[in-house]
Amino acid sequence: MGKKQETREFKTEVQQMLHLIINSLYSNSEIFFRELISNASDALDKLHFEAQTNPELIKDEELHIRLAADKDKKTITISDNGIGMTFDEVTENIGTIAKSGTAAFMKAMEESKKQETLSPELIGQFGVGFYSAFIVASKVTLLTKTANSDTAVKWTSDGTGSYTVEEAEKDERGTTIILELKDLDEDQDFTEEFTIRSIVKKHSDFVSYPIIMNVEKTEPIPENEQVLDGEGKPVGETTKKVLKDETLNSMKAIWTRSKSDVTDDEYEEFYKHLSHDWNPPLDKIHMKFEGTTEYHTLLYCPSKAPFDMFQQDRKNGMHLYCKRVFIMDDCKELIPDYLGFISGVVDAPDLNLNVSREILQQNRLVTNIRKNIVKKILAMFKDMDKEKYQTFYEEFGQALKSGIPTDFENKDKLADLIRYTSTKSDGKLVSLKEYVENMKEGQETIYYITGDNLASLMNSPHLEVLKDKDYEVLLMTDPVDEWVVQSLPEYDGKKLKSAEKGDLELDEVDDKKKDEFTPLFDFIKTKLDENVKEVKPSTRLKESVSCLSGDDFEMSAYMEKIMKASGQAAPKQKRILELNIDHPVINKIKSVFETDTTNPVLKDYSELLLDLAVIGEGGKVENPAKFNKTIGNLMADAM
Ligand code: ADP
Repeated sequence: MGKKQETREFKTEVQQMLHLIINSLYSNSEIFFRELISNASDALDKLHFEAQTNPELIKDEELHIRLAADKDKKTITISDNGIGMTFDEVTENIGTIAKSGTAAFMKAMEESKKQETLSPELIGQFGVGFYSAFIVASKVTLLTKTANSDTAVKWTSDGTGSYTVEEAEKDERGTTIILELKDLDEDQDFTEEFTIRSIVKKHSDFVSYPIIMNVEKTEPIPENEQVLDGEGKPVGETTKKVLKDETLNSMKAIWTRSKSDVTDDEYEEFYKHLSHDWNPPLDKIHMKFEGTTEYHTLLYCPSKAPFDMFQQDRKNGMHLYCKRVFIMDDCKELIPDYLGFISGVVDAPDLNLNVSREILQQNRLVTNIRKNIVKKILAMFKDMDKEKYQTFYEEFGQALKSGIPTDFENKDKLADLIRYTSTKSDGKLVSLKEYVENMKEGQETIYYITGDNLASLMNSPHLEVLKDKDYEVLLMTDPVDEWVVQSLPEYDGKKLKSAEKGDLELDEVDDKKKDEFTPLFDFIKTKLDENVKEVKPSTRLKESVSCLSGDDFEMSAYMEKIMKASGQAAPKQKRILELNIDHPVINKIKSVFETDTTNPVLKDYSELLLDLAVIGEGGKVENPAKFNKTIGNLMADAM
């Protein structure tokens, strides 16, 4: 059988991306080292993880990354003895963009296309690390072999239009990447030992496998090998040059050191290594828990939300270690989903090194750790100063809010952390605590309203009476807020109440006056029977003529909209039409009705009252053309 060999075109988006990477990152070209080393380190992690169930995989070899440079040939080689890739894996992983990132990446690319640049932050986030090789290389060769296969795979490309994949020979398991360097018009010579050394130190010092390079060393020549003169003094050289393996990175497990021994720079570099984020972290927690069990933890809060924060298949940032040995990443057992944006390490010496995910789920130690770190993380948020918290909340507020319906144990703490703008806050965010402190004399309830548009909420007819009383109303514009308010019936002993639902329990409508309107309202109800379940005098309107409301337990208009938008069948809900009986229009309609109940305009007016209510809350009327005509006729009559 002949060897498999295929030449394939890069997908369009990969070509575009390569073009952008090469053009935007040339001034940052050294990062290719970090990206390739980080891939190698991941491949070693994967092997290590597999070996936990299949110890045969790792015999007595040391897991490592090796760098080599050839000045004359102008090549750099980066190799690892990690998991390696099969033929199919190579074609799947190299030459495409990570699936989860594609859509978001394309969007970001569209935006950056205008200026033909790509911010370096994007590279790490979108998992396009491998392609960074083409910033410096005119040709890249990747040679890889998995533990279980006899044949290796060779992938080559010059990074323009196409790449070739073929079966090849390779002795050892793992991946080797050879870069043939372009003539770069800059001072840095990447084949220079000193340069490589300082780049590794700067970007990859924390990689937990040794990054080895064969370097030239000067050693003293042993005295018995030296040529001496008559007086016993050496005649020739006293030193000689030898080639020796040297580990370039310190592999410092900074989480096990005491805080005073770690510099800010080290913290920051470690964060970048761990998270693949290029921005410095916003905050961190570094501590050692002591008690029945001991463990170290170092946790970081990013300063920017990852683009895929709410994607289902996103990996979280938690890494589990046992006695400085990596066990797994994406450790869901250590942190609830809503805090999945936190990056960090937990090193629990009492865990079994061979622990599997199944065991972790029932492990009491892990449950305990999780409980403690959530507590610490929430305390970190609480202790941020106002400015920092603002930055944090803009990025992660939405994620935090989703903890309220899901993390029962920490609900109260989360309630203290959430913020909203309000009818009185002038665009600023207020906490529930501040809201309660500012409540008016006699105000018993925390009022809120939900919807997708701040401006229309701000001017919603539902708030007229509340505004008249000078009560503050929280404006909630996040879909998740609907779930927040459902799980947060009260705060600090004060009920949370939707301004568009139920009875606001503010002013009673005079019973006698109410009765006067009953026949008219019953009549309107018969005309709007399909859409409205009740017509009643409003206690929330002051200037507007009509609005819609629901019962306390019912879905809000916004919730219905969210459900529809997400493709869920939202049962059509009939709502309550509230009419302002102090409004001249209602009183005029009443006199028309009392003169002649068969007057055909009464039907039009009834429908119009409903349409006005719908428009008032930013909704769409059912029959816009008819609405248009009726209003047109009314205007003509009025003028
Ligand atoms: P990312 O590492 O962010 O996923 P890359 O483009 O750098 O994106 O790599 C794509 C994929 O190729 C990796 O997810 C991994 O599966 C595979 N890969 C890259 N380098 C190696 C390596 N040295 N050993 C094994 N697999 C690798």
